[in-house]
Amino acid sequence: MHIACNEVVPGCGFTASADTEEELTDKVAAHAAQDHGVPEVTPELAAKIKAAIRRQ
Ligand SMILES: [Zn+2]
Repeated sequence: MHIACNEVVPGCGFTASADTEEELTDKVAAHAAQDHGVPEVTPELAAKIKAAIRRQ
């Protein structure tokens, strides 16, 4: 599966892919902390991440 941060944060060029949703969410959380100054994944953010995941 695959995610483009651009779908959560318009203009961001970060993309990631992983075999599981958990792994992908971890990668996005690490990116959000590092590049967007987001200290934790809130339920709202988790929902946005989930909606942006492409299962292909
Ligand atoms: Zn981003």
